[in-house]
Amino acid sequence: MEGSCGALTNDLCSIYENRPLSCRQFEPGSLECLRVRKENGLGDLKI
Ligand code: SF4
Repeated sequence: MEGSCGALTNDLCSIYENRPLSCRQFEPGSLECLRVRKENGLGDLKI
């Protein structure tokens, strides 16, 4: 996906165990997450 993280490989984080703090603090499904998804034309998160 254009503009996506360079560590993203086949929809998986290739550095997950060593991912930066900002990634650890970002909660999937949080209001911020849903806002960013909406801004980028993505649907609701299926958890
Ligand atoms: S968790 Fe962070 S480092 Fe890993 S793919 Fe997502 S944005 Fe990139």
